Amino acid sequence: MSNENIITVGDLEFPPRKVWLKTYGCQMNYHDTERILSHLGSLNFTLAEEQHDADLVIFNTCAVRDLANQKFYSHLGEAKHLKERTDIDPQTGLKKNVIVAAGGCIAQTEGKELVAKYKQLDFAFGTDVIDNIGEMVYRAYAGEKKFTVTSWDRSDNYSIETKITQGTPQAFVNIIKGCDKFCSYCIVPFTRGREKSRRLDEIVKDVSRLVEYSGIQEVTLLGQNVNSFGKDHGESLAQLITELDKINGLELIRYTTSHPYDVSDELVDVHRTAKKLANHLHLPVQSGSNTVLQRMLREYTIEHYLGLLAKMRKANPNMIISSDIIAGFPNETEEEHQETLKLLELAQFDFIFSYSYSSRKGTKAARMDDVLTEDIRGRRLREIQAKQLGIQEKIRQEMVGKTYRVLVEEKGLNKGVTKWTGRTSCSRIVHFEPETPESNYQWHWVDVEIISVTALSTQGRLVKDYGKKL
Ligand code: SF4
Repeated sequence: MSNENIITVGDLEFPPRKVWLKTYGCQMNYHDTERILSHLGSLNFTLAEEQHDADLVIFNTCAVRDLANQKFYSHLGEAKHLKERTDIDPQTGLKKNVIVAAGGCIAQTEGKELVAKYKQLDFAFGTDVIDNIGEMVYRAYAGEKKFTVTSWDRSDNYSIETKITQGTPQAFVNIIKGCDKFCSYCIVPFTRGREKSRRLDEIVKDVSRLVEYSGIQEVTLLGQNVNSFGKDHGESLAQLITELDKINGLELIRYTTSHPYDVSDELVDVHRTAKKLANHLHLPVQSGSNTVLQRMLREYTIEHYLGLLAKMRKANPNMIISSDIIAGFPNETEEEHQETLKLLELAQFDFIFSYSYSSRKGTKAARMDDVLTEDIRGRRLREIQAKQLGIQEKIRQEMVGKTYRVLVEEKGLNKGVTKWTGRTSCSRIVHFEPETPESNYQWHWVDVEIISVTALSTQGRLVKDYGKKL
């Protein structure tokens, strides 16, 4: 078997394997089974038509319907012979080792007893942990035997203290690690694991300490999907920002990265109420086409996304929005690409990070048969970038004559002229000339009036220097 067909996750290799799923009971269970199958695709499983062809057998049980209940026990009893197989697995060359699992309602309540009673059952998992099936299958293939998972163990809290090494007033503060999304092009959920949030109280103390003892004035809250922050503890990003907003001496709060599916109304509202929250939202859209978004497993539509932008801009009329775009996702049609160009017009992003699609081994997208060439991808990327530059030059013209508060970062030479450079609350980079060649503005807060702009650069005039503290 070619190595290209093998997915490596952690320390294990997953060759192509088959899963056979038996669903009992209601429509909800059938939806759950689809979710299970979707997650297992990331571990190289495809659906087996027959139980006999399967490497992994999963019974998705129902505790409500009696008949379904009886059928499950009967099928589980018959599964004993799966463990007695002596034939050779064509993928591994070893004796076929079929793994048997039970999920769903019965497993939620009686998982431990089932695993203890039925020798053929390798593990059981409840309805609460369906989205963690990948990790359980990984554990089973890593050799772990006879385990039950009915609630996701988040007891090993994600707890850290932010370390400052740079001596600047800016700090990056991790608030959540991992990701529970499974965007089809992204390997993060497999490399970083599942989402785990720090506790809100801990972060507030951490930031207070940074402000008081390390002179931090600007924090950027970090995570793969910060909008999911606190879900495991009944807390939220909006609550966290509201608490951080109260810290004396902290001047600016940023957060990144956001997933559009998880932007709540509560978060939109905090952009209206929190005084220190930056006038900037980076909200990756990735494509302007609903059909591409579906293939990317992004869980939102363009209509939903544009609705979010409208709500954000209503909550804070000074808000500027930036985004990420992937050009040439596998099998993207010319029409789908045109939809992305159209989205740029509709969304009016201030800037974008745009990339040509590149395959990540181990992802679902990497296994798609793709007809696009690198030439097509390159051309589409250039079209996206050219379109965006035209849009952002126009947007930025509106800055001329307005005054912005800037935290100055560094000095540089621009066409032989010394200029200082800083960032506005809305994340625009601004350059301005010093009053005298000796003037030093590093880490000063200044007001700058914008005098000229291009798509990529903003020039200003110093209006007021506040020094290192506002
Ligand atoms: S793209 Fe972002 S949200 Fe999607 S799986 Fe990767 S880290 Fe998670």
